[in-house]
Amino acid sequence: MGRMICFAAHSMGFRTVIFTDQENSPASFVTNKTIVADYLNKEALKKFAESVDVVTLEFENIPLEAAEYLASLVPFYPNPKILKITQHRILEKNFINSIGVKTTDYAASNFVENLESFGKAILKTATMGYDGKGQFVVASAEELVSSLKQAGEQELILEKFCPFDSEISVMVARSTKGEIKAYEPLTNIHKKGILDESHYPAKVSELLQVKAQKIAEKIAQELDLVGILAVEFFVVGDELLVNELAPRPHNSGHFSMDANVTSQFEQMIRAIAGLPLGVAEFRSQGFMKNLIGDEVEDLEKFYQNPRAKIHLYGKEKIAEGRKMGHVNILN
Ligand code: AMP
Repeated sequence: MGRMICFAAHSMGFRTVIFTDQENSPASFVTNKTIVADYLNKEALKKFAESVDVVTLEFENIPLEAAEYLASLVPFYPNPKILKITQHRILEKNFINSIGVKTTDYAASNFVENLESFGKAILKTATMGYDGKGQFVVASAEELVSSLKQAGEQELILEKFCPFDSEISVMVARSTKGEIKAYEPLTNIHKKGILDESHYPAKVSELLQVKAQKIAEKIAQELDLVGILAVEFFVVGDELLVNELAPRPHNSGHFSMDANVTSQFEQMIRAIAGLPLGVAEFRSQGFMKNLIGDEVEDLEKFYQNPRAKIHLYGKEKIAEGRKMGHVNILN
């Protein structure tokens, strides 16, 4: 993500500095400067803040302390208050419901009793979970007890299993000037809890597409977002339930790199730089296919396809489940 944010920033004439705790990160090959240090290294954070006009992020699960410290020194988007909410599944669901938007039912305690009323549920770690990590599907008290043991001492949430028809997501941007634009939704297809493909247009009614955009705009407004946010939904009949928020560019937004005048990355840069937001409409139907693990070694069919655009992340090692790149296929 950081690498693609840099590409967008550079094509708009900006320079970038990356702060990361990893050597040789994909973004480090395309930025003006990289600072490698621990996220809690105040001296390094200060040096970083002094070298930039504005800070943003590619991933919401950085230590909140680091975000708050940087925000005390330099404009930091999205606001750490938003990170606090979106880093924690219980706070996130409480927030979403508090503004009148629906999620699946959930419980932060009394798991055994709640499982009885939910029937089937997913036990998730409250923090640091993504790509299906830290999740256990449970349908009986025995399964629940064994999953609780496996999860250990972490804070947990029990979510009612949602028998969804499909999953969609919407990217929404909001600028420092308060301008808001939502992209149209895409339908997401997961394999083993990891996003595999995102299809445009989303395979839901136009009414639901517009409803999803309106909900995403409302969430961005209520969060006082500056930047870009992904809203993931479960579609159940003609109802939308919000599954998760991510206050940054999102894997399901990658199709916009080739199908839109303004990609999610450019939109994010415009939003934090106080520029007018760009046109968010898609110019082509089609889909994004993730290159996960060794799928990145089988590119010939995409090179031969005149409608395919390959994006590789320059990651050094292939690993199972690791996102190595993606391909946008325009119809
Ligand atoms: P998450 O990390 O919460 O986005 O979960 C990853 C994926 O697991 C989702 O995109 C869904 O496919 C599935 N999933 C998560 N929560 C639920 C739920 N409450 N009911 C049914 N499926 C779920």
